[in-house]
Amino acid sequence: MKFGGSSVADADRIRGVGDIVIARSKGEPKPPVVVVSAMKGVTDMLLGAARSAEEGKREYKDAIYGLMGKHHDAVKALVTDNSAGASLLIEVDGLLDELGEILHGVELVRECSPRTKDLVSGFGERLSCRIVAAHITDRGIECEAVDAREIIRTDDNHGRAVVDFTVSGKLIRDRLAGRKGISVVTGFIASTADGVATTLGRNGSDYTASILGAALDTDAVEIWTDVDGILTADPRIVPNAWVIPEISFQEAMELSYFGAEVIHPYTLIPVMEKDLPVYIKNTLNPQAAGTRISRTAAPKDSPITGIASIDNISMITIEGGGMVGMPGIAGRIFASVAAAGVNIIMITQASSEHSICLVCRTDEAERAVDLLKRDLSDAIYSRMIRDIIITTGLEIVAVIGENMKGRVGLSGKLFSALGDAGINILAIAQGSTELNISFVIENSSKTEALGAIHRAFIG
Ligand code: ADP
Ligand code: ASP
Ligand code: MG
Repeated sequence: MKFGGSSVADADRIRGVGDIVIARSKGEPKPPVVVVSAMKGVTDMLLGAARSAEEGKREYKDAIYGLMGKHHDAVKALVTDNSAGASLLIEVDGLLDELGEILHGVELVRECSPRTKDLVSGFGERLSCRIVAAHITDRGIECEAVDAREIIRTDDNHGRAVVDFTVSGKLIRDRLAGRKGISVVTGFIASTADGVATTLGRNGSDYTASILGAALDTDAVEIWTDVDGILTADPRIVPNAWVIPEISFQEAMELSYFGAEVIHPYTLIPVMEKDLPVYIKNTLNPQAAGTRISRTAAPKDSPITGIASIDNISMITIEGGGMVGMPGIAGRIFASVAAAGVNIIMITQASSEHSICLVCRTDEAERAVDLLKRDLSDAIYSRMIRDIIITTGLEIVAVIGENMKGRVGLSGKLFSALGDAGINILAIAQGSTELNISFVIENSSKTEALGAIHRAFIG
């Protein structure tokens, strides 16, 4: 059972988490394993503090006081046993002192490496995990806090570390399998073989839960959040989006990859192999059925299951008549972008081969183009490539659904709906699995575009 930042946002919400976990532990032969995120907003505060310290600004000290107030309030409200409460407050202060020393070091050297950033950003989970565990213990249920750095092993790719499933699986089973009480594990954080702190990427606590679920071969993984399940679109953009009761692994993966932040894109990888279902549930509305993600989702009437979108996108267009029929050009382009460490989200090439478009995040586009211009300088010099252009301020929209396979006329209907809404489309891609049609639009037409597709296909 994984509880996200909004589910542990304050003392009241944590009490609600306690209710849900305790109720579940009573109905099951084995106690649940619980994963928690940092309290809402804490990871952002930690990263903001690291930035301030790096710039030599003393605001980071205010952030530490802010964190102290927030966590002290939670402890005081949630742990009624005086001596347990006092020792937890000492533990919280100990962690915040350690954080203060690290940030002071950052301030002195005026540098925060990705490695240090991982260490700093993990404090939120280390704090929340202890508080949730202490609260459950305070309610008379056997419960232990577990630091995931002891059981999830990764490489040292800081900011988005890669999990070693073989080593982690063994560590997880040794530490958690067969335990009598409830274990509350920190989401998001992990460590290298040398014990250096790493993180699984922003939103990574979902992934922590599925790594544990797969290693322990649980019956299911539950992601508890602040919405009733996976919705047909982001509710902040399409207010009348509704809950999808059942969805396949593939569809849910595509939706999360294209920006439905309700689950981290990697979450389904470990559980798919073991065929464990994942449920998305609402902490504020535990009675709601939620969404069931599994291999066998019931067929739907609508051709489209959901819509997702990614902001802050740029398009790199490489064009030139000389690229027509030039073998190896695509290979050179991709090798160059890969060397720049840029993740390409979407690719299109017109059959005239006159241009190739790569779509990536705006903060990576400049870096990609610099390296492309250097690596392709011979082709630019000989005029085979005329220009490499960046267009910014864009959005990728992806329309997803198993039912789209082999459905004639679907793209026609999709693009007419967008045309009728007056939306200009800059590039289109469809995978051969026909599970996904993605296209690029201007950022400013996002709300209109999502609304138009939702009206045309989902209702
Ligand atoms: P948590 O703190 O529990 O990890 P997140 O904020 O990471 O929660 O994810 C839940 C949020 O994802 C929802 O509040 C909602 O605004 C957003 N969201 C975006 N797209 C979708 C979608 N298709 N279905 C459900 N929620 C979505
Ligand atoms: N606390 C981390 C974040 O804000 C991980 C998570 O919430 O899943 O990204
Ligand atoms: Mg999340």
